[in-house]
Amino acid sequence: MILSRYLHDSLDMLGIGACEYDAELRAVSWNSAFLRFFPEHEGHIRVGEAYADNLRRFYAAGLEPGELPDIERCIAEGVARHLNQTQPFEFLHGGRRLRASSLPSPSGGRVRLWQSLDRRAEVVALTDAMLPVFEALRFIPDGATIVDGDDRIVVANDAFRQLYDLAENRVIVGEKLDQVLAEAWGDEAVIADRRATIRAGLRYDGAPFEVELPGGRWRRVLSRHSVEGIGCFIHADITSGKRQHIELLQAQEALHRANADLRLLSQTDALTGLANRRHFMNVLAGEAARAQKLALLIVDVDHFKGVNDQFGHVVGDACLKKVASLIGALPVPQGCTIARLGGEEFGLLLPGPASETALLLAEAVRGAFAQEPWHRLSPRLHGLTVSIGHCCAGGPLDGDALYASADDALYVAKRRGRDRVETAAVPLAPAPAQLRTG
Ligand code: GH3
Ligand code: MG
Ligand code: MG
Repeated sequence: MILSRYLHDSLDMLGIGACEYDAELRAVSWNSAFLRFFPEHEGHIRVGEAYADNLRRFYAAGLEPGELPDIERCIAEGVARHLNQTQPFEFLHGGRRLRASSLPSPSGGRVRLWQSLDRRAEVVALTDAMLPVFEALRFIPDGATIVDGDDRIVVANDAFRQLYDLAENRVIVGEKLDQVLAEAWGDEAVIADRRATIRAGLRYDGAPFEVELPGGRWRRVLSRHSVEGIGCFIHADITSGKRQHIELLQAQEALHRANADLRLLSQTDALTGLANRRHFMNVLAGEAARAQKLALLIVDVDHFKGVNDQFGHVVGDACLKKVASLIGALPVPQGCTIARLGGEEFGLLLPGPASETALLLAEAVRGAFAQEPWHRLSPRLHGLTVSIGHCCAGGPLDGDALYASADDALYVAKRRGRDRVETAAVPLAPAPAQLRTG
C-alpha cells in the first residue's frame, strides 16, 4: 500500500523525510523532504528501484574517496539494517545531522523516516498554528493548494491531486504551482507553452482563471494571497458548464452562418446569381433617401419572347445567364448595384459620383451585346439587342419615382425602334420630405 500523499505532504510540513519500500525492498513512494536530505536521488530514484541501488548512490555521494573500495560491504550492511532496524540511529549526511527511523508498513515493506536534528531550519516556513488549517483542506470538496511567497506548493489536498491527474508518487510539495498544473499536458513542448499561459492567469488575485486540460476538460482556479505572500488556491471542475457554453457558442455561430446564407439567398436571383428585384428595390430606396446624385439604368432585351418561341426556353435561359455575365464583366464603378429585375429585364443603380458614368455604362452594355457571338448558344441565333432607359437625379428623392421615370425612358427607347439608350426627359421633383424641410 502506498503511503497516502496527504501523509507525505504532512511529513513534509514537519520537515520529516519519508520513503516507503515494499516487501521486496523496492522504492514505492517518497516526499520532497526526502529529496532535500538526499539530493543525490533527485531525478534518479524511481518507483520499483531496489533499495541496494538507492544505497549505492547514497554511499557514492557520502563516502570518503579512501572508503569507496568498501562500498559493497557498506551497501550489504545498510540493507541488513533496513530489514532489522528497531531503534532510531543518527548520522551525518550532506552537512546535516539526521536521525533515521524504520517502521514496518502494513503491506509487509518498510517506511524509512529521516528527521533533521536541526528541526527548526527544516520546517517549510510554516508555523504550528497553521497545521489545523492544512488539516481542514482535506474536508474541502474542491481542490485546494497553499503556496509560499515563491508560488511553491506548501500543501495540497487529495481533491487537487485528482483534478490534475497527479500520479500517486508525484512529489509536489516545493514545486511551482504552474508547473504542476501544466504537467497534465504530458509533452514537454506543450507544458512550457501552457505554463506561460497559466502563470499569466494565476497572476490576478481574486479573479477566477480557467485552466484547460487535455481531453476538453476545464478547471477554474481562484486565488487569495496574504500580505506575506502566502497564497490559497481553490480549484473547481467546470468541464460540464464549459462544454455547454462552447456548444452554445458553436450553435450560435452555426445559426449566424445559416442566417447569413438565408439572407444572401433571399437577395439573389436563382437563374443568374445577380441580386434580385427585392434587394435592388431596397438598395434603391436607401440610396434615394440620401443627399446625393443617383442614376438608374433599366436594361430590357429586345424581342426576347421571339428567342423563346424560336429556340426554346433552355436557350432563352442560357441567353439570360449570358446577359448577366456580360453586364457583370463590364468595368462598373464602385458602389454600383446590378440586379435581374425580372424576366429579361436588368437594373443598374449608380449612386453619388458613379452616376456621372451611367450613360457611358449604358452604351457599354449595348456594345457588349453587339460584340457577343450569340450563335455559340444556338447556331441560328445571330444577334440580340437591348433597349435601356436612363434617369439621373439629385437626392433625397422618391426611389419609386426615379424607377418610373427610367421605365418611361425605356418605353420611349422601345417605341423609337429599340437597340438604343433613352434618358428620362422630365427632371425629377425632390422627395416630399425634402420639400417640407428644405
Ligand atoms: P420587347 O422588345 O418589347 O421587350 O419584347 P419582348 O419579347 O422582349 O418582351 P415581352 O415582355 O413581350 O416578353 C418577355 C419574354 O421574356 C416573355 C417570356 O417568355 C420571357 N421570359 C421571362 N422570364 C424568362 C425566363 O426566366 N426564362 C426564359 N427563357 N424566358 C423568360
Ligand atoms: Mg420586358
Ligand atoms: Mg423585352
